[in-house]
Amino acid sequence: MPMISKILIANRGEIALRVLRACKELGIACVVVHSTADADAMHVRLADESVCIGPPSSRESYLNIHQIVAACEITGADAVHPGYGFLSENAKFADILEAHGITFIGPTADHIRIMGDKITAKTTALELGIPVVPGSDGEVKTEEDALKTAAEIGYPVLIKATAGGGGRGMKVAKSEADVIEAWSTARTEAAAAFGNDAVYMEKYLGKPRHIEIQVFGDGEGNAIHLGERDCSLQRRHQKVWEEANSPALNVEQRMKIGQVCADAMKKLKYRGAGTIEFLYENGEFYFIEMNTRLQVEHPITEAITGIDLVHEQIRVASGGGLSVTQDEVHFSGHAIECRINAEHARTFVPSPGTITHFHAPGGLGVRIDSGAYQGYKIPPYYDSLIGKLIVHGRTRVECMMRLRRALDEFVVDGINTTLPLFQDLVSNQDIANGDYDIHWLEDYLANTPAA
Ligand code: ADP
Repeated sequence: MPMISKILIANRGEIALRVLRACKELGIACVVVHSTADADAMHVRLADESVCIGPPSSRESYLNIHQIVAACEITGADAVHPGYGFLSENAKFADILEAHGITFIGPTADHIRIMGDKITAKTTALELGIPVVPGSDGEVKTEEDALKTAAEIGYPVLIKATAGGGGRGMKVAKSEADVIEAWSTARTEAAAAFGNDAVYMEKYLGKPRHIEIQVFGDGEGNAIHLGERDCSLQRRHQKVWEEANSPALNVEQRMKIGQVCADAMKKLKYRGAGTIEFLYENGEFYFIEMNTRLQVEHPITEAITGIDLVHEQIRVASGGGLSVTQDEVHFSGHAIECRINAEHARTFVPSPGTITHFHAPGGLGVRIDSGAYQGYKIPPYYDSLIGKLIVHGRTRVECMMRLRRALDEFVVDGINTTLPLFQDLVSNQDIANGDYDIHWLEDYLANTPAA
């Protein structure tokens, strides 16, 4: 069993800080890395040790495997936490670390590979007993194939890239008249975006919710689920507001789909944290993908279970197994996360620059995960997430009341942020009713003038 004595955090921003906090709590030494643009970042300021790994461009710094391995060797780090994004789902990175005798805090490279290719992921999910969206049997290779498969599935259909990510290379075909064109544009887009033109076909669901199950395995065949998160409020396939539990599920539905996922992870002998994403419509779950890493929205699961997911990741990676059994997992109350981006709240134009005034809300049930501070200059090179506001209450109603109060207290001056959008959403009747699907937010933004 690999014992971990020093962790290198291969990430930046709020997630680097999140992992740093877990290491400090566990008394494990840790090293952070940063680009020249992040020399003043909070995760660098709070770390005992830091290494500059390159210029601002992510390709030359946070995605630079050689530099990160060198930083491990220089500092004597024997494990790497990849956070999310960057190298977190890069199987080659996991392989290289292993070859250097460094523990990758995450699943095996093989499991990352299986889930990274969408056709293989879907076939695997099916074999593991996870319900999937009806669709083609693997790749759709020819025009005839496209027409025949679409007729079998029934219109509308969605054509998706097997190497896809971030919603790219996806095309809807409403009828036979547009299926060939959708198929060929999806292939062209996939080739351009991912260097792989393989596409597959699925039934297009009209009004689904996005519901994902948090799973955890010890790599030895034990696995549990930590309930679901509802991430239906999205803009351009990016999650904006997440809640746990989902307003759409009851206890029986939650435990049933959770158990299906936990059983699948037992069969797979999955190691570490994972998220199985579904679309949910008319009482049915349809697998879309599995993320083999910690998610941005993991704190809402922590809020309702009381389990620190990063502690758990480190424990599993050290060979210590899971700290809880399924019976010991209890769900308490309701939690909502708002992703605060440095963007205009309506045009979503990025707004890098200096934060001239910063005041974070506090009080019972309020958590802020953010590396932002007064005087911090947000660099223009990375994604625009500057923090997350996570609120917990005993009931969904209490959680919403607390969220409204916390948003009122939050001050970020000098740049634009998405805070005003959340102030609108927290007062919206559909949101109050929990009545929304994956298209709700886009429709709302298109039809509602800014307050
Ligand atoms: P990506 O990895 O590119 O984000 P996903 O497979 O996770 O691709 O899908 C992203 C989003 O696209 C989903 O959250 C959902 O909004 C939409 N989507 C995916 N598959 C379907 C489908 N079969 N029907 C309707 N919408 C879908």
